[in-house]
Amino acid sequence: MFINKDYIERLLEESKKATKEQIQEVLEKAKRKDGLKHRDIAILLQIEDKEQIKEMYEIAGKIKKDIYGKRIVMFAPLYVSDYCVNNCVYCGYHRCNSFKRRKLTQEEVAQEVRILEKMGHKRLALELGEDPVNAPIEYVLETLKTIYSTQRDNGEIRRVNVNIAATTVEEYKMLKEAGIGTYILFQETYHEPTYEKVHPNCLKSNYEYHLTAFDRAMEGGIDDVGAGVLFGLSDPKFEVLGLMIHNEHLEEKYGVGFHTISVPRLRPAEGVSLENFPHLVDDETFKKIVAIIRIAVPFTGMIISTREDAEMRRDLLKHGISQMSAGSSTGVGGYKEREEEKEITQFKLSDERSPLEILKELIDDGYIPSYCTACYRRGRTGDRFMELAKSGEIQYCCEPNALSTLMEYALDYGDDEFKKKAEALVRREAEKINKKETRDFVIRNIDRLKNGERDLYI
Ligand code: SF4
Ligand code: SF4
Repeated sequence: MFINKDYIERLLEESKKATKEQIQEVLEKAKRKDGLKHRDIAILLQIEDKEQIKEMYEIAGKIKKDIYGKRIVMFAPLYVSDYCVNNCVYCGYHRCNSFKRRKLTQEEVAQEVRILEKMGHKRLALELGEDPVNAPIEYVLETLKTIYSTQRDNGEIRRVNVNIAATTVEEYKMLKEAGIGTYILFQETYHEPTYEKVHPNCLKSNYEYHLTAFDRAMEGGIDDVGAGVLFGLSDPKFEVLGLMIHNEHLEEKYGVGFHTISVPRLRPAEGVSLENFPHLVDDETFKKIVAIIRIAVPFTGMIISTREDAEMRRDLLKHGISQMSAGSSTGVGGYKEREEEKEITQFKLSDERSPLEILKELIDDGYIPSYCTACYRRGRTGDRFMELAKSGEIQYCCEPNALSTLMEYALDYGDDEFKKKAEALVRREAEKINKKETRDFVIRNIDRLKNGERDLYI
């Protein structure tokens, strides 16, 4: 198997002896964008010196700026079923937690989608527990159809990323045909003994089957896969190396690694106490992890959810994160029920602001919130996407698309103040684009959007 526990532990053990000079050498290598080896990443994970940490954040921040500019891609999760046959000890939906389970009917899915569209969302992450009887693949496919075909005023969902349990090549083929964006699956932990401990006696217990899910997804034709671990289950340093090695395995075998990496941290949930988890990750370690991942895989998008509070999200945006959720509900039917405050959620949220509030803050902080979904619709996925990303050319798509989608959002969902603010930003940023045709495309789009056109992208 490509994840070798002894190898990772040996790397971590050896790297503990790294001197300040050796850490500095790795930082210099990172600055030159030389490509870091496992040993280098292990050494970075031992960083403790305040000056060196500061330098590492600067390097991560520069990489982020060079590749992603000021853009932050926005999305929201949509939970459609909390039936689950699994026993993940860290999750509020585990099968022993008794509450009234439900899955949304297609009419209810459409209702949730309309609420999400009203918030301005264009990109969703579809989430559901694993239950082959109550929520089989047919249910997922039907739900995808409902989401893509539900429109409200100018609102439409243009890309659905899907997070379903590890499955077969045949089912991945079906997902591909249904037009999913990224297939998301978190390994939760790469540390096999921990994996077995936290997933006792259930379908998800099989570490190897879970670990090789992306291999099957790739064989089924899905070339955008999104990974993640749940930080807090095992030693975070082990997890970072696990992620890097998994990514490399996919690059070597299929020519393309992770499209995104998510970095959820263990949070309290109904029926779950945090006392039994000795590896909870503190804020400082968490920030370091995000920076190290950014440095190690510059072209892989990094995602943060509303599990983190506004301040932490703000910090992480500076040196790594390129996508974030906004206005999220993690309960089934939660968007409709939110007002009544009766949702049972998979985990508790820390950032409960509306998308508009979050977008205002992002703009004030100098970012460009983006609702772009262009690549998957233009067929820029997998290695085609990575080639473009690595050549730097992708910015000539991302930037104009971000600005055009922000303008569209402002016109449809912004208040007067936001509309003015967004248009000023779009004009200002457009002027900085050095390719004339791209610059003209953005400026022209302002009027085209005001005149009622929508969904303008390169
Ligand atoms: Fe089920 Fe997923 Fe929760 Fe595990 S993490 S109990 S698979 S919903
Ligand atoms: Fe993402 Fe592609 Fe849009 Fe850039 S152009 S933001 S990579 S979908």
